Amino acid sequence: MKSHYDSKQTKIHEAVRKHYEEHLSKKPDAGGVLKLDVSFDATWMKRGHTSKVGMSVMIDVYTGFIIDYEILSKFCLECTLKKNKLENKKITEETYNTWKTKHDADGSCGSNYEGPSGGMEVEAARRLFARSRDLKFEYENLVSDGDANSYKAVLAMNNGNGPYQDTKVTKLECINHVQKRLGTRLRKLREQEKVDTITKTGSKIRRSLLGGRNKLTDTAIDKMQSFFGKHIRDNVGADYITMKKAVMSSFHHIFSTDEKPRHGLCEEGINSWCFFQKALAEGKNREEIKHKKSLVVNLDQEAQNKIRQVYDALTTKDILERCVRGLTQNANESFHSKMWSRASKTKFSGLKRLSFVAQSAILDHNYGYRKACLLPALNINTKALRRSLTTEDEERKRHHEVQMKPKRKQKEKASAEYEPGGF
Ligand SMILES: [Zn+2]
Ligand SMILES: [Zn+2]
Repeated sequence: MKSHYDSKQTKIHEAVRKHYEEHLSKKPDAGGVLKLDVSFDATWMKRGHTSKVGMSVMIDVYTGFIIDYEILSKFCLECTLKKNKLENKKITEETYNTWKTKHDADGSCGSNYEGPSGGMEVEAARRLFARSRDLKFEYENLVSDGDANSYKAVLAMNNGNGPYQDTKVTKLECINHVQKRLGTRLRKLREQEKVDTITKTGSKIRRSLLGGRNKLTDTAIDKMQSFFGKHIRDNVGADYITMKKAVMSSFHHIFSTDEKPRHGLCEEGINSWCFFQKALAEGKNREEIKHKKSLVVNLDQEAQNKIRQVYDALTTKDILERCVRGLTQNANESFHSKMWSRASKTKFSGLKRLSFVAQSAILDHNYGYRKACLLPALNINTKALRRSLTTEDEERKRHHEVQMKPKRKQKEKASAEYEPGGF
């Protein structure tokens, strides 16, 4: 029989599939396996100086849902106690070995990892990738702003062939990831916008509105994509308006012509990336500065508006700010605290107990934490989903406030407010 966790997670997996199909036009292959963009995250339970327990999760970056998890533990209480007995000669080696074999075989050992604590994250990544196909997923793009060791270890699987036969796993920094999506969406737009026309020779064809010479060519898209990433990267730390302006400058820049220069938002000065602003700074007259034909994307207003919509969808305040902080970092941090605050309330009693805690934290995250979910941020969720998540969120918050407010904290806060000079 399926556990409560498994059946709830099956629903999450279905939701992810539906999302990929409906909003990203990505379908599973013939075998039902879907390629995902994920973020991998590891967190440690700190006990003394070394971490004996680590938990890692695989998160789908579009929905924020946790797909799978792995707990690694170097510690088993029963084994430790038995070993002590053996060392103190209270039991024979034979008794110990018999016990240990049975203990391992019936799955009651709390330890499932041997090796240095530093290797736990890497091992967890390997295990999660190795079994992803059991869930009918392949983790194709790994979005990460952190440590590269796990990624290296994943590539090294199966004698350097990686975890999957035909799918290459790629690591993307967060900004690269959003940048790539601009390209994907523009290419999709180019495919979609087609009209029936009749050629000079009289044959009927479907002509692309946006495709063709001097239009939305692959070169133009590549250029837009790299400008897009550059402007976000150059403005890390700046406020949203500044960043948005910088990103939009490249949009206007690329449609500029001699008749209608549009470099008002482009960076000014002699070192500007924009040839027009650079020339202005060098003292040239506006009329003298000519656009190279090869640089211009020649599209009518209607087509430009369609492209503008793609830019706007990918430069919302939420996306840009998340992107700069690390796309999934916030969601992950909230999960970490949820996980370990629960774990610390239960006395550490091995893997089974921790798995239970982990599963309940994951369900809470997947079903109850609205902010972890990128659907609202990407503006692609349904009203019903939004409403149900909000309700659950509010309910939990109320519940949380009553239960969790530590009395001491309240007092501290009160005294801080009346601190002399505190105003
Ligand atoms: Zn054990
Ligand atoms: Zn410009």
